[in-house]
Amino acid sequence: MSKRIAVIGSGYVGTVVAACFAHVGHRVLGVETDARKLAQLRAGKAPFHEPGLDPLLATTCRNGDLTFTGDLPGALRASDIVFVCVGTPPSPDGPPNLSDLAAVAAVIADNLDRHHVIVTKSTVPVGTGRWLTSLIEDRTNGSALAGERFSIVSNPEFLREGNAVQDFLHPDRVVVGSDDADARRLVVEAYRPILEQAIPGDAGHRDPVPLVLTGLATAEMTKYASNSFLATKVSFANEIARLCEFVGADVTEVLAAIGLDARIGGRYLDAGVGWGGSCLGKDLAALVSTASEYGYHPRLLDAVRAVNEGQRQFVVDELLRHLKTLRGARVCVLGLAFKAQTDDLRDSPGLDIAMRLAQRGAFVTAYDPMVAQVPDKPQIRTAGDALSAARGADAVVVATDWPQFLTIDLADMRRAMRADVFFDGRNIFNPNDVQLAGFRYFGIGRPALARSGEGAANRVTAAALSATRSPS
Ligand code: NAD
Repeated sequence: MSKRIAVIGSGYVGTVVAACFAHVGHRVLGVETDARKLAQLRAGKAPFHEPGLDPLLATTCRNGDLTFTGDLPGALRASDIVFVCVGTPPSPDGPPNLSDLAAVAAVIADNLDRHHVIVTKSTVPVGTGRWLTSLIEDRTNGSALAGERFSIVSNPEFLREGNAVQDFLHPDRVVVGSDDADARRLVVEAYRPILEQAIPGDAGHRDPVPLVLTGLATAEMTKYASNSFLATKVSFANEIARLCEFVGADVTEVLAAIGLDARIGGRYLDAGVGWGGSCLGKDLAALVSTASEYGYHPRLLDAVRAVNEGQRQFVVDELLRHLKTLRGARVCVLGLAFKAQTDDLRDSPGLDIAMRLAQRGAFVTAYDPMVAQVPDKPQIRTAGDALSAARGADAVVVATDWPQFLTIDLADMRRAMRADVFFDGRNIFNPNDVQLAGFRYFGIGRPALARSGEGAANRVTAAALSATRSPS
């Protein structure tokens, strides 16, 4: 049955959640405080790049199922369920900054006019549900007690930017946690079309989506455990890559082989410049911080972070080794977004590597299909295409796994450059092709053996790449 849903915060997550809930038949109010974003959303356009989102916004806004507003109290009064999707950005000392969430809680507390179900979709540390409960109770001087006037539900979001619409409509599972069974049931009702895979416009049959019902703290913990595991897989791949370099093995073949083991699985098992984005680093830091509150030292999680940090510096060190000096070297960085199919620069390995190179005196020009310029970082020049970015360069660094990079005319690129270093930080190129174009090819965990052309696993096609990769 159709529900009236408010989604608070229309960023990378909230906009997708709002558009998808409207698409499956609910009446949705998307709330946003940023006036520039709100104006774009009202015009039916996402304020960021996310494949498949604009058509969904255009249709759902046009037929009135989705409306964007800046009026949170109004949205609260007009809805059965409120999904809170505000940002929880990292703070320097570990736990995320929950000030936006606290501000939302205050407005909710001031505008409770009957029983409200408040769902945290933002990623929040374990215990935040209880903290929200106390915040709201305090703010109303105890006149609104949890269970009577409001209920808190945790519904962590697992979508990946770049594939967010598909991930939300066809999730691997839906997790709904609350200590209030009625509130949990209402949220499950909202997910019914997704759980049953009755998605308008979808052809063919899909199996129902597993539903995991838990208590509040368990749902909160699930999100952190999930992201920590994904980060661990990537760091594991990178550690193996380093060892492959020593022993002369090719990590792309090693990982392809172990990923075929059903107990391991091939996704999130790519060596490269490491994970980035707004989630993995922030969530790992938050979990480590939670552990420290209990006097527990999570050695594995610390190592996962250290390996990831090391990958970014590894690229800089390798360039120094091959170029002999970075001061005055011209470096073309291909890719600034933290991964393909997004324009998100938060904790982007490519941007971080570009900054590290600039700090060492290199002249960096970057090209990214979705990032025209880098705000507040004048050291990083940008170009409108890959060839222009490479003009006069001593080295190319591939930092984002955009499939279109595989269509670059490498011979043209080499001719436009001053020197011949090609550092494939994502292991997406066939080393032979790169060498045939006149470059010295360096990948991550791909030794001289691979450069001589052996190893079918190196032949990555754009289609295979976009189908298999998408670290979030
Ligand atoms: P974001 O910064 O893109 O979006 C947050 C939005 O909330 C912003 O547009 C901001 O203006 C708005 N906002 C802040 N205060 C508000 C208020 N009082 N009322 C209305 N709007 C308000 O962040 P995001 O990437 O969408 O992430 C949101 C949450 O989801 C975070 O906790 C994040 O960890 C989690 N998450 C993100 C992803 C991802 O891939 N980005 C995936 C899963 C979970």
